[in-house]
Amino acid sequence: MTDQPAPVRLRSTLAGVPAYVPGKPPAPVEGVTSYKISSNENPFPPLPSVTQAISDAAQQVNRYPDMGVVALTEALAVRLGVPVEQLATGTGSVAVLAQLVAIACDPDDEVVYAWRSFEAYPIVVALSGARSVQVPLDADARHDLDAMAEAITDRTRLVVVCTPNNPTGPAVTEQELRAFLDKVPSDLLVVVDEAYVEFTTEESVSDALAIAQEYPNVVVLRTFSKAYGLAGLRIGYAVAHAAVATALRKAATPFGVTDLAQHAAIASLAAEDELLARVEELVGERERVVAGLREQGWQVPQAQGNFCWLPLGDDAVPFAQAAQERGLMVRPFAGDGVRCTIGETEANDRLLDVAAEWLRTQG
Ligand SMILES: *Cc1c(COP(=O)(O)O)cnc(C)c1O
Repeated sequence: MTDQPAPVRLRSTLAGVPAYVPGKPPAPVEGVTSYKISSNENPFPPLPSVTQAISDAAQQVNRYPDMGVVALTEALAVRLGVPVEQLATGTGSVAVLAQLVAIACDPDDEVVYAWRSFEAYPIVVALSGARSVQVPLDADARHDLDAMAEAITDRTRLVVVCTPNNPTGPAVTEQELRAFLDKVPSDLLVVVDEAYVEFTTEESVSDALAIAQEYPNVVVLRTFSKAYGLAGLRIGYAVAHAAVATALRKAATPFGVTDLAQHAAIASLAAEDELLARVEELVGERERVVAGLREQGWQVPQAQGNFCWLPLGDDAVPFAQAAQERGLMVRPFAGDGVRCTIGETEANDRLLDVAAEWLRTQG
């Protein structure tokens, strides 16, 4: 990174683009195993059937991948019960979101989303030249969908609903989402980012896939990065009205989704039972960690993803520092809170220790 002025003319809008802050890699601490619980990654290594699919696909990397992502799209269509025409893939769901902004927004159009939410949103929006309209979460760190509906203007071209919300954890309910969709213009694109949907357990959580079949303006974003453990291969997808999916495919980087990613995703769908058993294990750990933290006295919002949120305010960065000294990399959001991924059992145990110690010494 440099602050030097560029020797050529770049878009003025770049000045307003925040830099993505990746989770820190584990820093070695004498005598303990360090853990990275800062990026909401899946702690399980890939299944042997998935690494086999990747290594088979590696034999073909002199060739371009299938640009149409045909085999995976067909497998997804079967799995989700939607026609292939309604699917579009991309190099991670963040890339699909960028494609959505590209097909929906002209410069100075508005994108409404909750804040705090996923840190990629302001970046993707600012890069496109559109404007972010951030609507504060409510006191329970949930989406305030009424306020979001009120924030919609003639210039709004896209709304993003992140459920469960990264980094705070709560999920939008079926009732809330339907009430919201009934209120907003029917020609306004509403993206429901379900990166963590496989981890949800509350009965009330919205079923965006079913809702998208009823509301043609709804797009569901999903990813193989979290529950399926393929973060390193970059593959996500959207379920959308066929015309929106066609536009999304136009906006995709040609040959962006590699053959390695396509075959790993197909193998993951084939091994879904095994992968979802792991998700269930992580959900069990999440419940244990959240209950433990609340017992200690922490105000942890509803946690429906593979992470939990500690609303530390100005103590966010010092807490992350204290955790790092114990070999635990968490993700602080300065002045706001700390997001902790549910990881290996030992990492989760250590998080409970660090949190208890924090309360003892700072509380
Ligand atoms: C992790 C995450 C994604 C997934 O990103 P990929 O590009 O698919 O790896 C999308 N949305 C949210 C809210 C996330 O936290």
